[in-house]
Amino acid sequence: MTKFSVAEMARQQVEKAAEAMNLPKDIRTILMCPKRILRTTFPIKMDDGWVQCFTGFRCQYNDSRGPTKGGVRYHPDVSEDEVIALASWMTWKCALVDLPYGGAKGGVICDPLKLSERELEKITRRFTTEIMPVLGPDKDIPAPDVFTTSKTMAWMMDTFSMFTGHTVPAVVTGKPEVLGGSKGRKQATGRGVAIITRELYKALNKSLKDARVIIQGFGNVGSFAGLFLSQMGAKIIAASDASTGIIDPKGLNISELMEVIEKDKALDAYKKGKKIARDEILYQDADILIPAALENQIREDNAGKIKTMVISEGANGPTTLEADAILEKKGVYIAPDILANAGGVIVSHYEWVQALSGMYWEEQEVNERLEKKLVKTFKEVWDKAQNMKISLRTAAYVVALERIAEVYKYRGIFP
Ligand code: NAD
Repeated sequence: MTKFSVAEMARQQVEKAAEAMNLPKDIRTILMCPKRILRTTFPIKMDDGWVQCFTGFRCQYNDSRGPTKGGVRYHPDVSEDEVIALASWMTWKCALVDLPYGGAKGGVICDPLKLSERELEKITRRFTTEIMPVLGPDKDIPAPDVFTTSKTMAWMMDTFSMFTGHTVPAVVTGKPEVLGGSKGRKQATGRGVAIITRELYKALNKSLKDARVIIQGFGNVGSFAGLFLSQMGAKIIAASDASTGIIDPKGLNISELMEVIEKDKALDAYKKGKKIARDEILYQDADILIPAALENQIREDNAGKIKTMVISEGANGPTTLEADAILEKKGVYIAPDILANAGGVIVSHYEWVQALSGMYWEEQEVNERLEKKLVKTFKEVWDKAQNMKISLRTAAYVVALERIAEVYKYRGIFP
């Protein structure tokens, strides 16, 4: 059996939109190739005194619209293939929400749950040093992703600053507020998922009141998406993380679940609700599914079992192309990742602007700007989908690719 390639899936998503919009062949050729991939293997002295080697990547997919932007992931399944896919999705996402950025992504192959804080700090500082030549506030700006946090960003910022000789707050986003992190950044991706779900519901003439929601992946994105959706009137009936699934048809208490994660790191420490097998929560009877864990979760082999008529993609790449086709036939509406989870990079952009200007905004200003941008982008995507009779995913790609194609029209192709 050929191994599933997430980068190939990302390429096919672009091809599909390129066909629908008749994108010029030269532009298609350019957009199929990542601009730069840095691979590094480096030694770390572990707490037990032995040395272990770790491998990491940074891919800068396309920088035609500005410096590249994208998270850093720590996970055992990180690979060059995955980093390329994630960097390409960042490229289309930044263009879709019209930020002056290209797309990047990085990652280190490791299992953060088995590493001490000291080991994680050493890995972060050494990885930052290895990718220093391509980093910088006007070159490439990392942010947190799976199993990286504001603390990881603080270590990256400090390491970069030590080598530069002065403090450079704009080199990363998602930092602690005391180091210049933006108010509202931690909640931004989940808040964006909730806003886009609300807008999709509005467009479908439905009310979120008592809408039943399933959240796969109760991490940063999933937990805040759940919190904001419950504030909008929806009921979170099931949630999962890597450790377990939990279900309660009457509605889970999101604040309590967040406290458990803060304290015990995993949902299986939660004593209320009924535990179910982690992957079973995808197939429960509900109205909205929020995949907010990892890519390749909704596939040809399980898409038919999903009962919700709306899916809002908090994670990047949770749905394969084959699953997309099955769900489209069933009439399921999918708010695609590059739209639904764009809240994070939008507020990261605000953080970068604040760091460069030295002027810091109140949370209300951040949230109002985020809301306005997402509502406007949703309408653009919805209208494009209606006018061209295409899915919301393809419509989102068409809007993004039109913006990038316009850039090449003026910049040309060097030399
Ligand atoms: P996180 O590390 O905070 O949370 C990930 C969660 O998924 C954890 O709770 C983990 O236990 C859970 N998980 C892992 N495997 C699982 C499985 N098989 N089933 C159920 N749960 C599982 O990471 P995050 O920042 O919330 O990122 C989640 C997704 O959102 C990723 O795809 C990421 O690329 C995407 N994303 C994140 C941001 C951001 O701002 N953090 C922005 C855009 C997109």
